[in-house]
Amino acid sequence: MAGRFPMRRIAVLLLLIVAGLFAAPAMAAMTPLRTCVLPDAGGERPAALFANPARFDCTTRQTAYGTGDFWLLSQPLPAIGHGEQVRQASLWQDRLTLYVLYADGAIRRTGFTSATTGRHLMLGAIVQMALPQHAARPVRLLWHIEGSLNRRGILVGPTLADHHATAKAEIVMAALYAAFGGMCLALLIYNLALWAALRRAFQPAYCLMVLCLLAYAFSSSGLLGQWTAIDNNDRQRLNYVLLAWSAAAAVIFARAFLERRVFDGWLRHYSNAVISFLLIATASYAILSPRFADITDPLSTAGYFLVITLLVPILWRAWRRRSNFLWVFALAWGAPVALASVRVLAAFNVIGWHLWIDNSTLLAMSLEAALSSLGVAYRIRLLSLERDEAREQEIAARLLAATDPLTGLLNRRAFLDSAIGRDEPHQLILIDIDHFKSINETIGHDGGDEVLRVIARALRAAAAAQSLVARVGGEEFAILTPQAAALDARAVLDTLREERMPFDLTVTASIGTCTGALPRETDWKAMYRSADQALFAAKAAGRDRVRVGTDLVRAA
Ligand code: GH3
Ligand code: MG
Ligand code: MG
Repeated sequence: MAGRFPMRRIAVLLLLIVAGLFAAPAMAAMTPLRTCVLPDAGGERPAALFANPARFDCTTRQTAYGTGDFWLLSQPLPAIGHGEQVRQASLWQDRLTLYVLYADGAIRRTGFTSATTGRHLMLGAIVQMALPQHAARPVRLLWHIEGSLNRRGILVGPTLADHHATAKAEIVMAALYAAFGGMCLALLIYNLALWAALRRAFQPAYCLMVLCLLAYAFSSSGLLGQWTAIDNNDRQRLNYVLLAWSAAAAVIFARAFLERRVFDGWLRHYSNAVISFLLIATASYAILSPRFADITDPLSTAGYFLVITLLVPILWRAWRRRSNFLWVFALAWGAPVALASVRVLAAFNVIGWHLWIDNSTLLAMSLEAALSSLGVAYRIRLLSLERDEAREQEIAARLLAATDPLTGLLNRRAFLDSAIGRDEPHQLILIDIDHFKSINETIGHDGGDEVLRVIARALRAAAAAQSLVARVGGEEFAILTPQAAALDARAVLDTLREERMPFDLTVTASIGTCTGALPRETDWKAMYRSADQALFAAKAAGRDRVRVGTDLVRAA
């Protein structure tokens, strides 16, 4: 099972990489725009602002302005044709109005509110608008953004792009999301099916994680916005919550995946606290925004930071407590955690925004889901090895409990277990070695043991395939055979006589037989009594002979 697993995952990863290579030139065909900022004090007119670029601040970091309304002016545009599109990252804002200044001095406007953003959403949560049609060419852009939450910026990633570039970007993104979505669905179905068979706690935890990732990808890709009339700010609330759930599910999965001993004690409580903190912080952001976002947003980022740093004690514990899954775990989580760290740095504005940082979540999630599924496969492999070993041990133990260690024949208990309950007539032969005490005295106890082994082997060979052959006492043996295949007791005795014994000793035995059925234990007792009386008679008559006891079948 584990051997066939990686191929599919590797194929998906290759697909992602190839799609990424396609994406690079698609981005390069677009023209990024530089913008400068003017906080909106009210009463401004676009024409006056176009005429006065010096009023705009081009140096201060956008997030330094905090929440509010803003004007943003682009650099003079390069010479562009018709049908050009303006793109930017989707952000929390109430309304965006884009004013376009044309070469003939005309100003046209377009825009959207948070409620109508969905119509302009592209994959990767890019908002895209066509420039208004006009005879002259556009020379400069002016954005009016109202109700900007400004946690990641006021206007992020503004870009000019022609139809070819936007179509190509959309196809690449569609391929990426399709690959990711397909992989998640396949993993989900596969692991649910496996769960039905194996019932391990880490399996539903894994499915929960993949489900959260899938939901987050659906919401954050912009697909949800395209397909429904959801307000774009509400979509971002949902993103926030779903990403936190994914992270929490990942911790829960890690806990179920690693052995219980790894998370024992304080680490279990601490990881609970981290998950709760993250979920509460993101829920309060989602519920309260735009109010208190300057508190709830950094708090939830701190929550992600705590989740990432949780990895240190987990790895340390896994190493100290000799987890079987340390390396699989480290491998599966190394890459996603590195990418998540980059995102946390971007969220704290330590590094700037980039489309691929925003979409790194997708890559991180793909890696996490795919590599974790390798982890799951490895875990299942160890489980099946453990189970095989346990089964072998059980078989060996059962065999040991059923056989007589000296001769390898059935012992008395195992013999009775399979003898009692047989309704059809059977032949019972009891064999007792003659004067065994003096054999022991002559050739020693070890020699006596060897005689027992030789006799046992001879009896097994003389018995029928259906016979039960057992050592029922010190030097007493029993053979139980269905009446239909009954043995000739005298022939058995002859076989024993022909056996070559240690020190060429002559060893003889006496035999008592009888016939009967043994549906219950009392029947067995009656049969044994009858055969034993016959054996006693054989001994009394001078040993080395057969005596036949009462036929209990006919007597009944
Ligand atoms: P009889 O012809 O009347 O059967 O005489 P016997 O000496 O064979 O019978 P008895 O029951 O008096 O003695 C059985 C002896 O078998 C006693 C015991 O020391 C010996 N014995 C029982 N189990 C073992 C064993 O596992 N190994 C050896 N070497 N001797 C055993
Ligand atoms: Mg005896
Ligand atoms: Mg004896």
